[in-house]
Amino acid sequence: MLIDPVLRGLALATKGFMPPHEGDALHAAALDAGAAVPGAPWVEVGSYCGRSTVWLGDAARTAGTVLFAVDHHRGSEENQSGWEHHDIEVIDQRVGKMDTLPFFRRAVHDAGLEDHVVGVVGRSPIVAHHWTTPLGFLFIDGGHGVQPARDDFEGWTPHVARGGTLAIHDVFPDPADGGRPPYEQIYLPALASGRFELVSVTGSLRVLTRAG
Ligand code: SAH
Ligand code: MG
Repeated sequence: MLIDPVLRGLALATKGFMPPHEGDALHAAALDAGAAVPGAPWVEVGSYCGRSTVWLGDAARTAGTVLFAVDHHRGSEENQSGWEHHDIEVIDQRVGKMDTLPFFRRAVHDAGLEDHVVGVVGRSPIVAHHWTTPLGFLFIDGGHGVQPARDDFEGWTPHVARGGTLAIHDVFPDPADGGRPPYEQIYLPALASGRFELVSVTGSLRVLTRAG
């Protein structure tokens, strides 16, 4: 199912890296999860400026649930000053650090999704440590270093409900295509755990479901 063209246009104007065909696949997977585990909340780990959040938030509205969008909004280690994907516009000059929260907030507001997206500002492992509610859908697109990826696997994937979905972004089996940690520290361990099976592949997006 393709996202509404107006929202799609807005998502395209939002800062970030997720290509439209992957966003649409994420949207479709989330709608399936909403039907499979009705009423369960969803979590996105790594929202940046809210681009993927808009796709997921729209699906949450349709599914009648809520997306908790977790990000410290200080940028990943690979996005800091001097790195390839660094964007000067997202620096808070007063503190000299990245701050993508204003951009995130704007995207969620402009998409009309404030009733369906709850921003959680903080470090992913800290939030995960205190999380207890089973999730219908979990999207992991946070820090792509070895330790952050491992932390997200360990901290969040146990919370996916039976029948629920785990989606992982930036999974690159071929090192020539991109960094390894989402593949080696999240995707492979999820399959090896026996808890998840692969459902679909769209670009670098992997959608897995937890056995019921
Ligand atoms: N999903 C977004 C892109 C996310 S970029 C999109 O497709 O549009 C990765 C994000 O993860 C960054 O915003 C960064 O701040 C966040 N992040 C990285 N490590 C984190 C951590 N340990 N805790 C919380 N957020 C983290
Ligand atoms: Mg990504």
